[in-house]
Amino acid sequence: MEDCIFCKIVSGEIPSTKVYEDDQVIVFKDLNPVAPVHDLVVPKKHYKNVMELDDKELLNHIFEVIKTVAKQENVAEDGFRIINNCGDFAGQTVKHIHFHVIGGEDLTKHVGMDHC
Ligand code: AMP
Ligand code: ZN
Repeated sequence: MEDCIFCKIVSGEIPSTKVYEDDQVIVFKDLNPVAPVHDLVVPKKHYKNVMELDDKELLNHIFEVIKTVAKQENVAEDGFRIINNCGDFAGQTVKHIHFHVIGGEDLTKHVGMDHC
């Protein structure tokens, strides 16, 4: 989709620090991390948000990728957050569906995570 930052990351037009990639999903480091691990799990196909994503198999696959990445990033055992902002009132700034995977420290003591 034109003028979508994440579509441009998928196509390679905009650089990213890739953590994982397969034919359906790409995972890269968030540009403004709020914790030691802050990755964005993004389907390659453009969907605006959760309300638009109607592909159950893809949704299932996204969650499998989240688990793979959590292990790869060594946050699976200690725990991590999966955050999805859906729509304006939730503060979704990039209108291409994505799931934040955040961890690497004790997030229960964490302040300043308002924006995600
Ligand atoms: P959200 O507020 O849920 O829409 O999250 C969008 C996230 O994308 C924010 O955490 C941004 O820091 C992140 N972001 C925006 N542009 C880029 C980029 N070019 N590369 C990596 N992360 C980005
Ligand atoms: Zn897009």
